[in-house]
Amino acid sequence: MPARPRRPVSRVVLVALVVALALVGAAGAVGVLALESVVDSTDARRAEGRVLERAREIELLVARRAADARAYMLTADERYLAGSAADRAAILGALEVLDQRLGRGPGLALLAALRRAEAEHHHEVDRILRAQQVWPADKDMLEAFARSIGPRGEALGQHLAAVVAHVTARRERASAAAAATARWASLAVMGALVLAVVLGALAARWLGRAVLRALAREGELRHRATRLEDEARLFRLLEGVPVGIAVLRANGTLYYANRHALEIVGRTVDGVAPGATLADLPELCQAYVAGTADLYPAERMPIIRALGGEACTVSDMELRRGGEHLPLLVTGVPVRGDDGRVEHAIASFLDIRDVRAAALTDALTGLANRASFAESFGRIRPVCERAGSPLAVALVDLDRFKSVNDTHGHAMGDEVLRRVATVVARALRSSDVVARWGGEELVVLLPDTDREGAVTALEKVLAAVRREVFVTATGATFSVSFSAGVAEVPRGASLEHAVTVADERLYAAKRAGRARVLGAPALARPPAAQA
Ligand code: GH3
Ligand code: MG
Ligand code: MG
Repeated sequence: MPARPRRPVSRVVLVALVVALALVGAAGAVGVLALESVVDSTDARRAEGRVLERAREIELLVARRAADARAYMLTADERYLAGSAADRAAILGALEVLDQRLGRGPGLALLAALRRAEAEHHHEVDRILRAQQVWPADKDMLEAFARSIGPRGEALGQHLAAVVAHVTARRERASAAAAATARWASLAVMGALVLAVVLGALAARWLGRAVLRALAREGELRHRATRLEDEARLFRLLEGVPVGIAVLRANGTLYYANRHALEIVGRTVDGVAPGATLADLPELCQAYVAGTADLYPAERMPIIRALGGEACTVSDMELRRGGEHLPLLVTGVPVRGDDGRVEHAIASFLDIRDVRAAALTDALTGLANRASFAESFGRIRPVCERAGSPLAVALVDLDRFKSVNDTHGHAMGDEVLRRVATVVARALRSSDVVARWGGEELVVLLPDTDREGAVTALEKVLAAVRREVFVTATGATFSVSFSAGVAEVPRGASLEHAVTVADERLYAAKRAGRARVLGAPALARPPAAQA
């Protein structure tokens, strides 16, 4: 499957985080501005408060000066003039502050009002001015002072009230503006924060998914690695199987072939020509219909039929390599996936000659097996009968073989069985047939041999077996013996009958002390001498 191009996780998450941070920053900036405006309005309020304070201060100072002036005019006591210089400086300072704070408008209106007051009451002012020589020729200041006297104080009071009203109105406007700004600012801050939280959550979700995807990918890789390891282990095991095994994918390409399979087909599957199809398989493998010059029909090949979902075995296929004809037993089996579709086809190949040999041979000793022995008996007995020659059967059973296993282990027991089999076969004629009857028992067919001759032959064999020395892993040595029962096969007798008689004599030999050969129930011979 082609790899899907992936978006770089880090870039997307980074962009989301940067946007979230920018929003938080913007919200902060708006907040700071709002805070500043609130602080500004607070400052303005404070400044206006100071203006009002100044206005009231002027009012008080003017009232005090008026009172002092009236007292001086009545009493001509100069002590009433003592505070005038300080009051004048204070009034001047306060007026300056008012002018600065309010701009020229209200300050000038104030002064105009003072002038009018002076015009109305100039006599009185003149008198005061004359009496108060201490005052410098500061016209504005004089006017300011004059304003405080008598009914002119009312005009001043009105103007001060106007100033207060003006200032209060300004303060209210500023407060309302600041409140509106603060409201908008808090809304903006909240909006930005909500947006930042949403973006942050989205980024976290994205990041979480990316992490989960990465974990899943890693898990999948680990799973795949484990599967490959399992496959490799399985393939190593299959290498040792003495059967040719080949596996095709559903698309007909070779997935696996073990060593034995490659040996059987002469490794041609390995180097399939480019563009070759399954239809070319018989030619590539040099597969023929056994005994003919016809290539094996591709559609009948088990592996191709297995790809089509059919399990089957054929025994009429023959591979040809050089001059050699290899008769094969081939089985094809489809392997289906969970969805029921064929994913692989497995074929196993056996050389039919190997199968035949395996069917007739004992795997441990390499001797003929019981089936093969029966076949030999069925073939040889009529020949002997026709020739009028005797035929003997001997049953051989190793003595105390259980203790060999118990003392030296089962592997050593197997080794003893293999060596005894070889010694027995070598000690007899090539025309004699030796087979493994089962367990630690052998059976011997001796054509052209009567009972006496067979007993003699078996005694010779027993001597050879007893001479055999076995060495254990610890360096200890031991040898073994067997007991045997011999029977001549009467004309027309079955194998079962002959073996039963031989078995009875074998049993008698065991009872008589083992390591001996008995040709008759009563006629026990003395144990064969050990060489
Ligand atoms: P006896 O002299 O009476 O024949 O004593 P035995 O111990 O030989 O007789 P028994 O029938 O009691 O035991 C036969 C033993 O042979 C038991 C079994 O474990 C062992 N045996 C049979 N087949 C094999 C084999 O293929 N390999 C090995 N190692 N041992 C085998
Ligand atoms: Mg036995
Ligand atoms: Mg035994």
